Amino acid sequence: MTECTNLHNCFQNERLMEVVLDGTPLPANVARHVAHCPLCQSTLAQYEELHFKLLSRLYRSQCPSSLQLGFFCAGLLSGAESEAIASHVAQCPLCSLEVLQTQEFLHDVEQIR
Ligand SMILES: [Zn+2]
Ligand SMILES: [Zn+2]
Repeated sequence: MTECTNLHNCFQNERLMEVVLDGTPLPANVARHVAHCPLCQSTLAQYEELHFKLLSRLYRSQCPSSLQLGFFCAGLLSGAESEAIASHVAQCPLCSLEVLQTQEFLHDVEQIR
């Protein structure tokens, strides 16, 4: 516990940030240090949380609006538009979930009619 309050043993924050952003596994020497260092562990956890938030915002910034997704599900879009959304949905976990929910909703509506 004590050795890691010694910052000389710790890796630069930028270094840890890089590892998180690159999504690469920790280099062996870093991993060995982090395994014993609560300070670096918490730094790393913070970066990972931040990275996750940035990532979900990145996804969202490229996402079609809910209205567009609704039109897509109802088959109201032109071929090109619908293709663009289909290829986005295929790689976006957020939208594929929304499409699934919308399709279920549409299905229910049709049952009522
Ligand atoms: Zn450390
Ligand atoms: Zn999306």
